[in-house]
Amino acid sequence: MDEARDDIAQLQALIEGASQIVVFTGAGISTESGIPDFRSPTGIWSQTTPIYFEDFVASETARREAWRRKFVIDRDIVDAEPNRGHRAVAKLVRVGKVTSVITQNIDNLHQNSGIPAKQIIELHGNGTYANCLTCRTRYELGRIKEAFEADDRPPSCTFCGGHVKAATISFGQAMPDAEMARARQEALACDLLLAIGSSLVVYPAAGFPVLAKENGAQLVILNREATDLDRLADLVINREIGPTLGEVADVN
Ligand SMILES: [Zn+2]
Repeated sequence: MDEARDDIAQLQALIEGASQIVVFTGAGISTESGIPDFRSPTGIWSQTTPIYFEDFVASETARREAWRRKFVIDRDIVDAEPNRGHRAVAKLVRVGKVTSVITQNIDNLHQNSGIPAKQIIELHGNGTYANCLTCRTRYELGRIKEAFEADDRPPSCTFCGGHVKAATISFGQAMPDAEMARARQEALACDLLLAIGSSLVVYPAAGFPVLAKENGAQLVILNREATDLDRLADLVINREIGPTLGEVADVN
């Protein structure tokens, strides 16, 4: 346990010494809330062919299948609550140490932990609501699910007739410009980037820790397993996220 204490002390010192911290999170912070990592070897995308964005737009069959899968996946997600790791990040935001959280996650758990939405940058969108692809009108999932179960037809927009899709970034869909630009800005402005629970292999998202490091920030990687970017980091901690961050931020 002395090594764990040493890791925690080192991370506390880095946080203490930093004035503007950006937190970058991946699936690993949410697996402790019971949300499966879809990209892991046992995750759904290794067992099912993903539906590409262009197919969703072009085919009603693809849209129906996408919504059918969405509601199956959601059974594991709807009851998930923020865990100790999310709460620790929220505290670091609250005390003004962390200016923004860049996340690859779509589960809304950072918002649910109390972090203001304007300080969260979602690179892969959000799976807890839907949007019209044409006019961007927001739709709640509960009503879509009810209608879909009644008539088995993929939802379309009440206002413009456009296709309604979960507000996530699908395979083959462009990364969101505004979020990418903001994430880039934040990565360049910070003096410490804390990468939590990401295997740091999915680009362009994983480029932000590299960008921060190359621009002079310190880089800390906290992940259960080793990552591709460990050699770049000033501190690497391969441990459970919730217990580690909870100790670091003194949060239960
Ligand atoms: Zn519309």
